[in-house]
Amino acid sequence: MSIPKQGKVIAIDGPAGTGKSSATKRLAETLQFIHVDTGALYRSIALLCLDQGHDFSASEASPQMIDHATTVAREAHFEFKRSLNKNPKNRIWMNGWDVTDKIRTPQISMAASKVSAVPGVRSALLALQRQLGCAGNSILEGRDIGTVIFPDADLKFYLVASVDERAKRRLAELEAMGADTPSFEEVRGQLLARDHGDINRAVAPLKKASDAIEIDTTQLTLDQVVKQMEGYARQRFGL
Ligand code: C5P
Repeated sequence: MSIPKQGKVIAIDGPAGTGKSSATKRLAETLQFIHVDTGALYRSIALLCLDQGHDFSASEASPQMIDHATTVAREAHFEFKRSLNKNPKNRIWMNGWDVTDKIRTPQISMAASKVSAVPGVRSALLALQRQLGCAGNSILEGRDIGTVIFPDADLKFYLVASVDERAKRRLAELEAMGADTPSFEEVRGQLLARDHGDINRAVAPLKKASDAIEIDTTQLTLDQVVKQMEGYARQRFGL
């Protein structure tokens, strides 16, 4: 049975590094909508698989990986909390474990891309995403929000940017996190590999919904992207 929407739903899809997360966070704050980062769910599943000893280095998905990731996704219990320190941040807990700061590494990005191609993982996370988006006015960001999770979303955006610009942004993020930083070429290669996996998977591939508004963020600042989206939202919802 499908869950009825309790408010407006905005869907934001696009490849990694197009500015989805930053723009979604800002737009959600501006419009006072709930922000749902669906990539964090796939990242958390990948983290748990890695923690339980799964090796994602093989290019092809093995039957063991498919079974393991599906079981982890079916049994996962997520909680979303807000930290109370000076810089409030949405935190994600899985099975009683605060995974927020552990899921942003390049290793988890690559593993998340692999587990997200497993049909059992996608179906296990579908109801949760719909439930989160139906709780009130919400903005969900991901790869298949406007096409699969909320094909009936009230407003859809599809963000794109050149691969060089996306790699530059991702590298700056990793540097800011103080992590061991890979080279520009490595980051660029990983983005292209994730794009390839996301676009070519059999289930819920990354693609622009026919009714989505496309924004090329290559030459735009974050402020400009958020302003454009806010303009569309205010016009569409009469806010
Ligand atoms: O958005 P983010 O980079 O955090 O997502 C991590 C990975 O999770 C993506 O590369 C993609 O493979 C997968 N994902 C997905 N569907 C979503 C969100 C993320 O397949 N709705």
